[in-house]
Amino acid sequence: MVVCPECEEGLTLPADPRKGEILDCAGCSSELEVLAVGPVLVALAPEVEEDWGE
Ligand SMILES: [Zn+2]
Repeated sequence: MVVCPECEEGLTLPADPRKGEILDCAGCSSELEVLAVGPVLVALAPEVEEDWGE
């Protein structure tokens, strides 16, 4: 069972999760990046602020 690191909601993983895939938490709408598979490890994806940079 993989849980959201933000809200500890259980995550529904795709049948074939891939490293680098972004999942949306159903509990808190956080974006979670798959860091590893077998076992699956997820972490909050870095927020992309479109205003940043330059
Ligand atoms: Zn969550």
